Amino acid sequence: MEAKAAMKLTAEGGVEVHTIQVDEPGPGEVRVQLHACGLCHTDQSVLEGSLMFGGPIVLGHEGAGIVESVGPDVKDLQPGDHVVMTCTAFCGRCKWCVEGQYSQCADMPLNAARNGIIRTPFHLGDADLSAFASVGCLTEYTVVQERSAIKIPDDIPLPEAALLGCGVFTGVGAVWNKAKVNPGSTVAVWGAGGVGLNVIQGCAISGARTIICIDRVGEKAEFAKEFGATHSIDGSNADAVATVLELTDGIGVDYSFEAIGNAGAMSEAYTAIRQGGICTVVGVAPFTEILELPAGLIAIQEKTLQGTFYGGGAALRDYPRLIDLYKQGRLKLNPLITTTYSIEDSDKAYADMAAGRQAGRGVVLFQN
Ligand SMILES: [Zn+2]
Ligand SMILES: [Zn+2]
Repeated sequence: MEAKAAMKLTAEGGVEVHTIQVDEPGPGEVRVQLHACGLCHTDQSVLEGSLMFGGPIVLGHEGAGIVESVGPDVKDLQPGDHVVMTCTAFCGRCKWCVEGQYSQCADMPLNAARNGIIRTPFHLGDADLSAFASVGCLTEYTVVQERSAIKIPDDIPLPEAALLGCGVFTGVGAVWNKAKVNPGSTVAVWGAGGVGLNVIQGCAISGARTIICIDRVGEKAEFAKEFGATHSIDGSNADAVATVLELTDGIGVDYSFEAIGNAGAMSEAYTAIRQGGICTVVGVAPFTEILELPAGLIAIQEKTLQGTFYGGGAALRDYPRLIDLYKQGRLKLNPLITTTYSIEDSDKAYADMAAGRQAGRGVVLFQN
């Protein structure tokens, strides 16, 4: 079938929108009609070249929609089911899964390229296109493995639901699954973008008493207060570490998070934790960046520096928890949507994100 989609066709090229052909779902696959797709910095990293370009690709990985058709051997989904995509659909059987480290699953569709199998469900003329993060959601229709599409209740608006697929899952998941923030603790979060705001609301849900947000755009840091930040720091004109120390009686925070993907910010986030504190890196920096730290302090001050990928969680378990919190009004989704776009305006949507013009997320809505 035909679908309008946003794609990157060459290493040097930018976003292009074309009408493509989308395959029928194969064994174990479903074809999904997308209703919304949030835009994430990871797509931007592919566009800018800081993440490797592996060939023509349909962009987008934060999508929600309705199952249009199912292939042979699909067990749990049927046409009409509302679904949110997940980039880390895990197998449940490999050595990482049995240790509960689902986002490192050796057999996740995201690792298909590493396993030598690249599924290309999209076609434009002679070009076969793969799906970004094995979901490829910036298209009217996509084809994914059944386990990459998580069924959700029909009464959640699909644009809000789409945000669960990356920003919310990554941000709240980092708090729940990796840092395990204790009630009453103090936290500092570098970055008030689509992930950082969700780290902040995750910390608020977990009962942190002080949540300091640092962003180089002062209004964004201030906007974080809507999601539970208690203090904001404009990183462009303040010494962030010194201000965090001032706000915590000179000892530093119990937990810090870096949600930008910048080595300088990671260094600040590490410096700002107290002795025995935990610094969790959520942002993905360009692979060429090197992080420098005062090596002597790691042992002496018993500081922990850890990374987490995509929230480190299990979508099958965590999406229903997030949906419950949303229904109770404790997890904010609608205020995360700053601007909506049509698929034809994908180029403008990415340009707005690159220029930092969105306080939360830009979301592409499909006309269906
Ligand atoms: Zn993402
Ligand atoms: Zn696995």
